[in-house]
Amino acid sequence: MKPPLSQALIYERIEQRMNLVDFCRSDEFTQEEIVGSCIKKRRFADLQEVVRTLKIEFDKHEIILGYYKCCYCEGYHFTSRRRNSHKKKIYNMLMEHKRRLGEPIPRLDPDKFFRKSNKNKNRKGI
Ligand SMILES: [Zn+2]
Repeated sequence: MKPPLSQALIYERIEQRMNLVDFCRSDEFTQEEIVGSCIKKRRFADLQEVVRTLKIEFDKHEIILGYYKCCYCEGYHFTSRRRNSHKKKIYNMLMEHKRRLGEPIPRLDPDKFFRKSNKNKNRKGI
């Protein structure tokens, strides 16, 4: 687990990513949601940055991360809570990218990459 962000850093990021006044006017539930889904996460300004980082993560750790467009900061964040269909598209995109660069295409165990996360399993009560 990563260490929690300090309160000071959280406020610094809120100021950088969105309107601080709007944040302060939001109710507690919304503030928690914003901090959890945006402020605590690494931000990517555009899709190019997302793809570049996806590729690095894949090459280094052989993992595929899901991503989403953030409605608070207009940037992108990574998430592990995405369905496999989303990850398969990313996987195909990465392989296409590698093919174009002439890099070797790794042979993958699909169970390893497209298995459901434990969080999803718990949510469905399996
Ligand atoms: Zn965000």
